Amino acid sequence: MTKNLFRSAILIVSVALVGSAAAADCETTVEANDAMQYNTSEITVDQSCQEFTVHLKHVGKLPVASMGHNWVLSKTADVEAVSKDAIAAGAGDGYLKADDSRVIAHTKLLGGGEEDSVTFETSKLKSGEDYEFFCSFPGHHALMKGHLKF
Ligand code: ZN
Repeated sequence: MTKNLFRSAILIVSVALVGSAAAADCETTVEANDAMQYNTSEITVDQSCQEFTVHLKHVGKLPVASMGHNWVLSKTADVEAVSKDAIAAGAGDGYLKADDSRVIAHTKLLGGGEEDSVTFETSKLKSGEDYEFFCSFPGHHALMKGHLKF
């Protein structure tokens, strides 16, 4: 009986340690493919993170000119306007308006086989605000988007 209790205690401590390690995970990897999709529709940023890093991998084969993907983060309320200005900015600027203050973080525009990472300070995020990430390549926003929670 005592032995079983001891084992239970060990198990609880182990679970607690694993739990805290997971909470400190301040980065995530997002994959984008030739079918105009991200492999995730939701990212949760833990409140304990000072900085958060997103690694974007384009796992497809198509070139940036026809199937370019980036990862752009803004408030959900700003997404339409940011997306519109991004298309106006054109391919030369990687389909993103230069120094757009509504953009919290973004990666480079990638072609198949490429990857890029972006790190941002979580002090730019407000708890309870609605954030969305999306691809600003023309026509991709409708399919390539997801929510970021803080
Ligand atoms: Zn895209």
